[in-house]
Amino acid sequence: MGKSEYRDMWVYLEVNGGKLHPVSLELCCEARRLCDESGERLIGVAAGAVPESELAQVKECGVDGLLLVSGSGYERYSTEAYTRLFTELCRKYRPSAVFVGATANGRDFAPRFAARLETGCTSDATELIYNPESRDIEFVEPAAGGKIMAVITIPELRPQVGTIRPGTFKHAPTGRREVVEVINETLPCPAEEIRTRLLDYKADERDAELDISDSETIVCVGNGVKDESLPKYRELAALLGGKLACTRPVADRELLSNKLQVGQSGVMIKPKLYLGFGVSGAVNHVTGIDAGTFIAVNTDPDAPIFNYCDYGIVADMDAVCDELIALLKRGA
Ligand SMILES: Cc1cc2nc3c(=O)[nH]c(=O)nc-3n(C[C@H](O)[C@H](O)[C@H](O)COP(=O)(O)OP(=O)(O)OC[C@H]3O[C@@H](n4cnc5c(N)ncnc54)[C@H](O)[C@@H]3O)c2cc1C
Repeated sequence: MGKSEYRDMWVYLEVNGGKLHPVSLELCCEARRLCDESGERLIGVAAGAVPESELAQVKECGVDGLLLVSGSGYERYSTEAYTRLFTELCRKYRPSAVFVGATANGRDFAPRFAARLETGCTSDATELIYNPESRDIEFVEPAAGGKIMAVITIPELRPQVGTIRPGTFKHAPTGRREVVEVINETLPCPAEEIRTRLLDYKADERDAELDISDSETIVCVGNGVKDESLPKYRELAALLGGKLACTRPVADRELLSNKLQVGQSGVMIKPKLYLGFGVSGAVNHVTGIDAGTFIAVNTDPDAPIFNYCDYGIVADMDAVCDELIALLKRGA
């Protein structure tokens, strides 16, 4: 079957505890842009119970339609039910692309249903481009240790499946379409196909300090940081009303939790202010930052980070941090 016979871009709407995962809305907004360029329709796909209030948010992102699936097997996430669901739906409706948030669940079922459909799945793209000549999506992501940006396409097979990390794209709703088609499907997953059983449920113990994705101010320490200096960066972050974050080597040194790692394989952040201390500016790190104001402190005037920042300070990081703390304490 030729690729011209596949139409519409889909976004998987992930719902946990009656709430949409923010990545679903981010992906709807980005896929809206791609659909406007390709002339295709944007369809949000969800299974199980989805509250009207959550669907209203999806509609605000400009979807042309909703494909809502009911039936047994979707009360909670299961690998088997969701793999089967998307395999069946894609066979029936033949979308050209399916975008799935790179959450624990999304990463689990997206490559599985892609494999069943014998098509390609790209993980963790940081940019999506629609190529009007080939009619392919170009999934862009850092590769070879961040030295190059790879453009990955699925030129012959359909659908083009991709997982995208939360925070990669902005949730910037373009508004509700005049008509939003709602398709209701009933597609139960036979109980005997689900090989996992729920024995117990424990909510994630959330530590607000480890959740940096929404912080308006980020003080990020890189590998230039001395172990004993860490408390002063924590103090600076607190004085600025922000949060402490780090690069991968700092997490590898086990100085800070890997939940605080910013970048391609860490958290994507969109702070109003990003202050990077002793950060070299590897693509794998800076690709995770979309800051209003970007300030970098580094002793090396040739550090790549100075290519990305709004303000660069060539100086010792501890000296600058001490000075900032003193200024803030004086109320300057
Ligand atoms: C597939 C892949 C995914 C990756 N994902 C991520 C990711 O998500 N996030 C991430 O951060 N990295 C990631 N990396 C690693 C990344 O490529 C870099 O190695 C890393 O970001 C470098 O961290 P850094 O800048 O802290 O350390 P370095 O590159 O070691 O830089 C330290 C900097 O500190 C400066 N410095 C030293 N002393 C001082 C001082 N006293 N004062 C001021 N400046 C000083 C130095 O001049 C230097 O520029 C990934 C790599 C790969 C291969």
